[in-house]
Amino acid sequence: MLTTHPFDDDKLREECGIFGVSNAEGAAALVALGLHALQHRGQEAAGITTYDGALFHTHRAMGHVAGNFDRDEVIRSLPGPVACGHVRYATTGDTALRNVQPLYAELASGGFAIAHNGNISNAMRLRRELVRRGSIFQSTSDTETIIHLVATSSYRTLLDKFIDALKQIEGAYSLIVMTPEGMIACRDPLGIRPLVMGRLDDTIIFASETVALDVVGAEFVRQIDPGELVIVRGSEIKSIRPFTPMAPRPCIFEWVYFSRPDSIVGEHSVYSVRKAIGAQLAIESPVDADLIIPVPDSGVPAAIGYAQQSGIPFELGIIRSHYVGRTFIQPGDKVRHLGVKLKHNANRALIKGKRIVLIDDSIVRGTTSLKIVQMMREAGAAEIHMRIASPPTRHSCFYGVDTPERAKLLAAKLDVGGMTEFIHADSLSFVSLDGLYKALGEPGRAAIRPKYCDACFTGDYPTTLTDQDDVADVDQFALLEERVS
Ligand code: SF4
Repeated sequence: MLTTHPFDDDKLREECGIFGVSNAEGAAALVALGLHALQHRGQEAAGITTYDGALFHTHRAMGHVAGNFDRDEVIRSLPGPVACGHVRYATTGDTALRNVQPLYAELASGGFAIAHNGNISNAMRLRRELVRRGSIFQSTSDTETIIHLVATSSYRTLLDKFIDALKQIEGAYSLIVMTPEGMIACRDPLGIRPLVMGRLDDTIIFASETVALDVVGAEFVRQIDPGELVIVRGSEIKSIRPFTPMAPRPCIFEWVYFSRPDSIVGEHSVYSVRKAIGAQLAIESPVDADLIIPVPDSGVPAAIGYAQQSGIPFELGIIRSHYVGRTFIQPGDKVRHLGVKLKHNANRALIKGKRIVLIDDSIVRGTTSLKIVQMMREAGAAEIHMRIASPPTRHSCFYGVDTPERAKLLAAKLDVGGMTEFIHADSLSFVSLDGLYKALGEPGRAAIRPKYCDACFTGDYPTTLTDQDDVADVDQFALLEERVS
């Protein structure tokens, strides 16, 4: 698998990207283009569903959009003016084809296709209850829970059934739904995952990121607001807000790493925010050094910001090969280590004898940082100072992001001193939480009602985590049983 980030084995991974088109001839081709622009949000599988006014058509496949949806016969098999698509990593559920989205079901009201970015944090509990009442699940995906809640809702209209379903789920969801009546796009009441709306003449488009609108030549109209449902029927657009209004908490990691730098998320250019984080890092953690070196590619904007703020020259000290793909991403420590060396090389002539500042966006397990520092040492760097453009990642994400279990997060096990020793750097600093908020134009993190979800840094989860609590209860019960026996 050719990953977007060359050090992808040690990054948090966004789980999904979604894209929907209403009222366009050849909608499937537009969706394929949009999904291609969202490929960085999910690289394990892709799918497109269309509706031609009478029938739904779906093609889903493991692998990338290119290779699966760039063939004429595939696009021809997806007729109709309405289409939605999905790229994914596995979140809940395994990677089998049956979990690849859009998911589709024939309900009493007709066909129902759904594409979901996020994760439903009470899906397991809801599923147990639905199965007990007779629902038969086809996949292990949390998204299927929504379909069963709609199917079993006692409300009369499809829209009311859908709202009824949404009111029972918790967690993060940006959704694009297709029914014979039209397309619905919505975000959860906290707006944890992004979703934007665009327009291309009479065609309405929904996408996880603005970059996907750019790719099809659509104009950005606005973001879908947290808790908003936008319903499109032909050329008619209607917006409803069926939830009690809440202070939004969009995922702050979208600006740190997930979104493409050429996207606008919320009000902010991702590229500008990353540069501002780098500048903030230079203010908070200055260092006397000769060169600022980004860890490619996601460390580049923050490194530019750090260099501009500090006045230290920005240089490319790590050169990335663009031709290394799946062959070298294999299990086994030895091969994996070899893979990293093949993907990157130190720019030896530049590094030798220099005091360098390495800038990366985050540290997850720390294994990659260790390898990079080692590579710089072998290239003859005199001093290696690591600066990270996010606070320490200490907690798992339950909102649709693939995080290792907490015990594997380096910052959950070690303080900054311990982490510095672990990666063998001369110094290590992270941008502060307030500094991250400042880069987004805030005075700092508000203790009450912070403006973003930052739970992977703080452990302050903005929703209840029913399934996690259930697991904890089971663990405690097991401990109790052990003590009793
Ligand atoms: S826990 Fe972290 S990655 Fe997950 S939604 Fe919140 S900020 Fe984003």
